[in-house]
Amino acid sequence: MIRDGPALMVAPLRAMAISPENIDYTFRNWAQTQLCTPDRFYRPRNVEEVAEIVHEAAQSDVRLKVVGAGLSYTDAPLSPPRGWLMSLEHMNRVLEVDKVNGRVRVQAGIRLGDLNELLAQHRLALEVLPAISEPSLAGALATASHGTGCDFGVLSTCVTSLQLVTPDAEVHEVDPDDADLFAAAVAGLGALGVVTEVTLAVVPAFLLEETRFAEPMDVALDALPRRLADHAHVRVVWFPYVTKVEVVCQDRTSTPPSRPLGFVRWLDDRLTAFHARRLVAWLTHVFPEHVPRLNRFARWLARGRRTRVGRSDHLLAYASPHRHEAMEYAIPAARAAEALRALRALVEGERIPVNGEVELRWARADAVWLSPAQGRDVCYVRAAANGQFVTEEYFPAFHRLMRDFDARPHLGCVHLFEPLELLDVMPRARAFDALRRRLDPTGLFANDFVTRLFGP
Ligand SMILES: Cc1cc2nc3c(=O)[nH]c(=O)nc-3n(C[C@H](O)[C@H](O)[C@H](O)COP(=O)(O)OP(=O)(O)OC[C@H]3O[C@@H](n4cnc5c(N)ncnc54)[C@H](O)[C@@H]3O)c2cc1C
Repeated sequence: MIRDGPALMVAPLRAMAISPENIDYTFRNWAQTQLCTPDRFYRPRNVEEVAEIVHEAAQSDVRLKVVGAGLSYTDAPLSPPRGWLMSLEHMNRVLEVDKVNGRVRVQAGIRLGDLNELLAQHRLALEVLPAISEPSLAGALATASHGTGCDFGVLSTCVTSLQLVTPDAEVHEVDPDDADLFAAAVAGLGALGVVTEVTLAVVPAFLLEETRFAEPMDVALDALPRRLADHAHVRVVWFPYVTKVEVVCQDRTSTPPSRPLGFVRWLDDRLTAFHARRLVAWLTHVFPEHVPRLNRFARWLARGRRTRVGRSDHLLAYASPHRHEAMEYAIPAARAAEALRALRALVEGERIPVNGEVELRWARADAVWLSPAQGRDVCYVRAAANGQFVTEEYFPAFHRLMRDFDARPHLGCVHLFEPLELLDVMPRARAFDALRRRLDPTGLFANDFVTRLFGP
């Protein structure tokens, strides 16, 4: 719980100085699957304004939610009907850089891509990054976003302290001395209050050398233990109905960065990374019976062994995907190969027309209460696809299968756990909920997403 002693600041109790922006604002998430029209929408510029809004919402007896960049596939950032929504997009500055101790203090609304650029200017970098640069820092932390690497935790493990505006509109600095609140707030789903500033552990800027190659799935899965031991960052990508998987290995290097891509390579990269995938996805809707052939084509576009060297954030954040839906479940790391083989048997055995890739990534065990890697090393299995069959057939089948592998959900992605089931699936979910109820007894920061997970 929050330690005794005064909060850093108490919200002013005078009339509000900040006005809502636009009462007609409608928020839609990136995947265009979730939307809400809040009664009020705010974009505060500093923590005082955040505290004012929290105070006013509590006085007005409405629900309040903070939205990041809207990249979550779920309704996590939605305000309930007649609720208020707040975005910290104007709170996006780097406040302090301490190169000696490897710490940076930033405002929580900064986008990861902007943060990476600003860190690079100081010859610094984050060691853990999700595959996309668009999320806000606070949003990525709130759902325990992750990259890949057996020696790396989720992004929240890079936090050394944070500033939190709690439901009573007080501003607190939360650090590991406040062990429980810290373990909850570094991935708090916006259910504990508003994260306004974050101090992150950073490292000197580094280059990565990336090697990508295709290999028959069984060969790649047999080689997994060795590759995971030999390489810092490994991911495995499989297009259903294709015999080969793509293996991507990344390691630190002092080799100079690759020269900018030539035209043919650039065209090839743009084709494989985005346009060809989009075209193939569209064709799978028109000709679902040709999904196996079209997936083979998508895989063929990404053929060949390629090595490149680049700035760490440019290679760790690689996705520029077309619109899709995604489920991602974390299973014990040791069961990764078994799970991918079982998924292949399921999809191909039942001829499910899966038109998106399956990706395996890894994370080290951590102590973050709502992290899927809490207390155990995990392999994340990500299932991406689009089309009606996804919700009706593929995701339910994926869910049932992954339950057999003791799966825990990534809370920024679609999941099919029943209401309250999370309390049994995530070992520290009950502790999180108890803390949430103590901090927020009236449910100011609860929305449907939070209520489904933890109850009203
Ligand atoms: C194409 C794509 C690729 C992705 N790749 C990865 C990946 O590689 N790894 C991974 O782990 N995830 C990945 N994700 C998921 C994504 O990282 C998470 O959903 C992340 O939470 C999105 O951040 P956001 O800023 O968009 O937050 P939002 O989706 O807007 O919000 C997420 C949560 O954060 C809370 N929140 C936002 N700001 C604050 C704040 N200031 N204080 C308190 N709570 C706050 C919201 O209330 C909400 O509960 C991917 C998503 C997409 C669409």
